[in-house]
Amino acid sequence: MVLKKKNIKNVAFFLDRDGVINHEIGYINSWKKIKFYKNTFKALRLIQKSGYKIIIVTNQSIIARKIAKKKEIQNLHYKFIDFFEKKNIKINKIYFCPHHPKFNKNCNCRKPKNGMILKAKKKFNIDLKKSWMIGDKSSDIKVGKVSGLKTVLVKTGYGGLDKNYKVKPDYVFENLYKAITKIIKI
Ligand SMILES: [Mg+2]
Ligand SMILES: [Zn+2]
Repeated sequence: MVLKKKNIKNVAFFLDRDGVINHEIGYINSWKKIKFYKNTFKALRLIQKSGYKIIIVTNQSIIARKIAKKKEIQNLHYKFIDFFEKKNIKINKIYFCPHHPKFNKNCNCRKPKNGMILKAKKKFNIDLKKSWMIGDKSSDIKVGKVSGLKTVLVKTGYGGLDKNYKVKPDYVFENLYKAITKIIKI
């Protein structure tokens, strides 16, 4: 039987942004404040080579807190995607949650809620069971768990020390690059 193309599902790496791809330095409202980890590009190239999609999911309550406008964060992400494209890395999509329950609304996209993951699943026809979530905070691990993704905590950024949610990741690695090199062999 020949599988119809629409029946073939995609696999993805869902990545948190701050503390995973670039340094966690608090609220980032401009490109100048983005500083990438040394092996980020190598890591993303490896993901790309292995056929997984690269989807970033990031909580940006900086908008709810009125430290940045939604447009500024969107522009920052266009720049982000452009920058990686020039290094021959395709980031398939960056989803961000602009909300915070204390400042604007109780949404269903702020991690650990999985609105962003479900949006991506629908858009890219992602097989969540064969996909991964990598993050530095307990909310990243929790959103991975509730979405049926395999979960990885990296020791960069918060390194899981936020303790907001009691969750146990499937794997713990030093950083994104180490995680990807190991996972690709699993
Ligand atoms: Mg983070
Ligand atoms: Zn939201």
